[in-house]
Amino acid sequence: MSRFFSDKYKKLVPYTPGEQPKDTEYIKLNTNESPFPPSEKAIKYATEEAGRLNLYPDPECRALTQKIADLLGVDFDEVLVTNGSDEILNFAFMAFCDEKNPAVFPDLTYGFYSVFAQLNGIAYEEIPLRDDFTININDYFGAKKTIFIANPNAPTGIALTVSEVEEILKANPDNVVVIDEAYVDFGNESCVKLIHKYDNLLVTQTFSKSRSMAGARLGFGVGCKEIIQDLNTIKYSTNPYNINKMTMAAGVGVLEDEEYTLVNCKEIIKNREFTTSELEKLGFNVTDSTTNFVFASHPDIDGEKLYQMLKERGILVRHFNNPRISQYNRITVGTREQMEKLIDAIKSILEGI
Ligand code: PMP
Repeated sequence: MSRFFSDKYKKLVPYTPGEQPKDTEYIKLNTNESPFPPSEKAIKYATEEAGRLNLYPDPECRALTQKIADLLGVDFDEVLVTNGSDEILNFAFMAFCDEKNPAVFPDLTYGFYSVFAQLNGIAYEEIPLRDDFTININDYFGAKKTIFIANPNAPTGIALTVSEVEEILKANPDNVVVIDEAYVDFGNESCVKLIHKYDNLLVTQTFSKSRSMAGARLGFGVGCKEIIQDLNTIKYSTNPYNINKMTMAAGVGVLEDEEYTLVNCKEIIKNREFTTSELEKLGFNVTDSTTNFVFASHPDIDGEKLYQMLKERGILVRHFNNPRISQYNRITVGTREQMEKLIDAIKSILEGI
């Protein structure tokens, strides 16, 4: 730390991204990326745009925003495109939390929520999940706080139904409820349709998972136009050109290739079911995930030890140093071939203990 670092950030503990090692060709199942390449249209449009990088990108992201709005059946001014969904989540903390409206979220959820709260000097409450890692929606009724819920939740993979989310919205009419749908495309119903019924709802989604564009950094938020206006005030006060030209073009390309996304999601769901059933046969406890990852623990092997032994065998999964989930690993669902290699490696590890 330099002697110039502002006092307000001295205690800030930054988010720790999953490892991105360069040394070996790992089977990378640790950051919930897609194993499939970006759509060919996305690559083509981004490549064409590379020749125009001398110009600033469109700050309104008109073409891409309209495409997202059309896909979701909402209006142009009900969508805001951001640099990954991390950015819209940060904007939401900035826009909708303060001393009167602290934040609230589950104790086990996306690790960035607490970092964004700290970054913005916002007090926050963490509500414990039940023992089976489900959310008790009653805990969020009349919260008098800005609510952040990843749905499905991470790293557990477990989802609330749309009607459960609706109950939370109804029970908090004077607070914003942010529903983070980063993993919605792997077999869940979206809450986007509720934005016309509830003016306190912000839904966020990402192109990083189902659309194979984690490296492009593209996400968005959907809400009533006043909510989107507030978020635009934050955006134009921080970085009006938050989406670069190549990413914007790639986003348009992948949305013109929706079939490609749907086929890939189906394949991931199939591979998730395969992985879950193979892990269960080996004695694992696996949560009921509707995402592109599984969350699993085994009674006979310590979670961190399994993570390390898999790493030694060239397979990276994600282990969290949180006592409540220290026996678990979060394993991204990749191709069938990758998952077969994972299962083989786990079999040989279990045979050796
Ligand atoms: N929400 C959740 C629950 C996530 O797991 C992630 C991915 N790490 C994000 C949001 C952010 O994703 P991105 O910024 O790549 O859109």
